[in-house]
Amino acid sequence: MKTKKQFQSPKGTFDILPEDQKYWEKVRKVVARVALGYGFERIDTPIIEDADIYALAGGETADVVEKQMYVFKSKGGDMLALRPEGTAGVMRAFLEHGMAQLPQPVKLYYIAPMFRYEQPQAGRYRQHHQAGFEIIGDQDPVYDAQLIHMYLVVGEELGLKSLSIEINSIGCAKCRPTYRAQLLRYYRSRTAKLCKDCKRRIKKNPLRLLDCKEEKCEQMRVNAPNLIDHLCQECHDHFKNVLEYLDETGVPYVLNPHLVRGFDYYTKTVFEVFLEDEHIEGGNEKTHQRAKLALGGGGRYDYLAKTLGGRETPGVGAGLGMERLIGVMKKQGIKAPPLYKPEVFLVQLGVLSKKKSLRLFEELRKAGIVVAEAFGKDSIKAQLRSADRLGVKMSLILGQKEAIDGVILLREMETGAQESVEMEKVVKVIKERLKK
Ligand code: AMP
Repeated sequence: MKTKKQFQSPKGTFDILPEDQKYWEKVRKVVARVALGYGFERIDTPIIEDADIYALAGGETADVVEKQMYVFKSKGGDMLALRPEGTAGVMRAFLEHGMAQLPQPVKLYYIAPMFRYEQPQAGRYRQHHQAGFEIIGDQDPVYDAQLIHMYLVVGEELGLKSLSIEINSIGCAKCRPTYRAQLLRYYRSRTAKLCKDCKRRIKKNPLRLLDCKEEKCEQMRVNAPNLIDHLCQECHDHFKNVLEYLDETGVPYVLNPHLVRGFDYYTKTVFEVFLEDEHIEGGNEKTHQRAKLALGGGGRYDYLAKTLGGRETPGVGAGLGMERLIGVMKKQGIKAPPLYKPEVFLVQLGVLSKKKSLRLFEELRKAGIVVAEAFGKDSIKAQLRSADRLGVKMSLILGQKEAIDGVILLREMETGAQESVEMEKVVKVIKERLKK
């Protein structure tokens, strides 16, 4: 027998309550509009995937894979993971459905929940949502720039002030090994001063040393060699072109030579989106971590398809954190229109009128009028109070007498003026009044 207790949503997760839905809807609408405007079509992939997909795509040493992934064995014995990020699943779908046969590039977007076993704190949850865009099948730097530009456009259309982009190139399989060797040389003599995680990273994945948020490691990074200085000609030209295209579209950016991303699948361009002046503070009292939190991030992933067993297919993509975005919208006082805004309230008094009200309610609703009711209440006072609270323009009052006579009282809420309208004409009359 299970014991009864006061249940709460699991740690690090939260409910999106009705009063917050308008913000979510606004972001979803803007994301869909911008996506369509740039030729993206929506894709939805399952929340669960074969866990190997992330291990292959992200790399076994990626924090997200190694420490934060929710992995479980299904009843059939498959090792499945709750999706920690969007790109790998979208690439799996691209390969599985032969999308390489379609005109390239294929542009796909999604809005989906992600799961990461993190220490919950401000802006960091165990279930969060990302709006992601992926451009698959073309390696032209113009698409890196277009994708980055789109993030600014989403921000602008939401009315957000001052988004800024930090950008870097992390090279390719040709130039990275030389850089890696340089980085190792720099860090090896300083290993003793590194945090525990970085001591491990230096052995397994030295590039990740650049990503550490520990203060002492951040300080050491300042003089570490830059990848940009070690790019091969191809990566150098690619990056130069991305920056030129960004200049052309007026996208402001800051070069951050130490920017690396959490997943191993990235090549060449990587970027993150921040608020220009304001930092969203992360961390909590316990960790004293005051890391600057990104609103979104992404980059190019030209080897991902091959890593997942497909033909080499270039791609570039990024995800925007919906919770952080909505947090900033609220902080900046950005309004979202209410989703439920009734226009008319239907008041009923007595058994016969309640029955007739049901049919009238349907007629009004079918005519596209947003109508509210309190069918469970009998008193006219209580029902009018509800109407007032909802801020409707008009109420329709159907008493016993009106029900018999085939009429209804129309009350203008602002003035309190009432008039009798024939039941057959009421939908038409209301429609006309609402137009005014
Ligand atoms: P990432 O690929 O990890 O950079 O994630 C992309 C974006 O998703 C980040 O810039 C954040 O805005 C958001 N994000 C990532 N992890 C979390 C989390 N645990 N809680 C809330 N938002 C997150």
